[in-house]
Amino acid sequence: MARYTGPVCKLCRREGTKLFLKGDRCFSKNCALEKRPTPPGQHGAGRKKASPYSIQLREKQKAKRAYGLVEKQFHHYYQMAEKLRGATGENMMMLIERRLDNIVFRMGIGTSRAQARQLVNHSHITVNGKTINIPSYLLKAGDVVAVKDSKKEKAFFVELKNSKISNLPKWLTFDPVTLSGQVVSLPTRADVDLSIADHMIVELYSK
Ligand code: SF4
Repeated sequence: MARYTGPVCKLCRREGTKLFLKGDRCFSKNCALEKRPTPPGQHGAGRKKASPYSIQLREKQKAKRAYGLVEKQFHHYYQMAEKLRGATGENMMMLIERRLDNIVFRMGIGTSRAQARQLVNHSHITVNGKTINIPSYLLKAGDVVAVKDSKKEKAFFVELKNSKISNLPKWLTFDPVTLSGQVVSLPTRADVDLSIADHMIVELYSK
């Protein structure tokens, strides 16, 4: 299944929550969800009754869309999580949170997960000194993520050097001067900053 390339604000309106897919705009008054908080479509505002199945489906779609994953990739994390000790839903969210594109976003190098994915795809990012261009690469505690030396003078990164990084999660560090950071520890479920009822996703997949 191909990646969704349509208007992303529609996805937030569909899920009824901010998925932060458009960088700075998501924090401004131009956020489409704040202007039109109803689901998209002619009858969007009229759809009211939700079945248990549709509630579970919406939770899954919300998580999938927030991280920019297609169904096959998302289901793969569920299968991986099932094999781990502990709650499957929590393990699944923690695995997804460890993706390189997500960590580049959480460090503030990219303003959205989509932009972070592009930076990784275009070989702008190194892990432990080695260029990694695989957005799904799973990081572990102690890994050092940095902007590639040869890319540091690009206007985008020069601007980043002069910016203040806010909302850095406690399991990550990032120094805008050196454009590098570290995964201090693995994320816990509490470190996932999206409100997703992961147990509903597990219920949906285990039917
Ligand atoms: Fe979602 Fe951001 Fe668009 Fe707002 S601006 S609707 S948070 S993608």
